Amino acid sequence: RVRRGTSADPKSGRWPRGEWNSSGLIQAQGLHKWFGDNEVLHGIDLTVDTGEVIAIIGPSGSGKSTLLRCLNLLELPDYGQVIFKGQDITDVRVDLNAVRSRIGIVFQSYNLFPHLSVLENVAIALREIRKLSRREADVAARAELHRVGLQDKIDAMPGHLSGGQQQRVAIARALGMKPDVMLFDEITSALDPELVGEVLEVLRMLASDHMTMVLVTHEMSFAREVGTRLVFMDDGRIVEEGDPRQLFSAPKTERLKRFLVDLG
Ligand code: ADP
Ligand code: MG
Repeated sequence: RVRRGTSADPKSGRWPRGEWNSSGLIQAQGLHKWFGDNEVLHGIDLTVDTGEVIAIIGPSGSGKSTLLRCLNLLELPDYGQVIFKGQDITDVRVDLNAVRSRIGIVFQSYNLFPHLSVLENVAIALREIRKLSRREADVAARAELHRVGLQDKIDAMPGHLSGGQQQRVAIARALGMKPDVMLFDEITSALDPELVGEVLEVLRMLASDHMTMVLVTHEMSFAREVGTRLVFMDDGRIVEEGDPRQLFSAPKTERLKRFLVDLG
């Protein structure tokens, strides 16, 4: 098979076995990623099942963002596979744009078009990527904006919204693609404290709608309440994972213990 990136195992020089259990919605298998000489992912295995809400925590620089970006191939892993709905999306024949629209991602920075209205920010992606007509796109965009509680802001310009509202527009835009899974990378980290709640509220709503989500977060109480699984990363590895309540109350590794103590 022809694959993206370098394909052989960096240590053994062998090709991957290509065996996987197709029950997961996304399966990352043996992901390695280097930036120059810096190996930032040291062989990550992660299965995301439909309906899960996976919270990824860990110190700054531990590879959380890189892992998330590898899951929808915004970064290409140097070794390993990402299986999405049974298909190896690291295969060069896969249409990356089609895959990426099914794996939504929202970042700390909202990246809205400042010169377009809130409605248009959401609708433009629906026309260009989902190929909806102008009318269909407007109807669908309104529905998504309603879902995130911004029905009153559809004609506003992004610059006139609070950070929390802008982040909700970014979420609505991603939801408009009808993704099978949503990835969130510290989406509340840049917000003033009083605006964090309204964004977490949207995530809670998505969880109760059974949206599959993987989120990198500093919001430990949110991870404990809403997460179905907690993943602790350190130095490019998954050090510990499991039930959030159990991990928070009885971490098994010294590293997670120390991380939680340092958080205060
Ligand atoms: P986290 O999200 O956990 O803070 P990152 O995945 O952003 O960690 O970063 C992991 C490591 O990879 C860090 O050492 C960071 O400096 C490095 N890194 C991330 N992105 C790049 C890049 N585009 N080029 C070079 N190094 C990068
Ligand atoms: Mg990060």
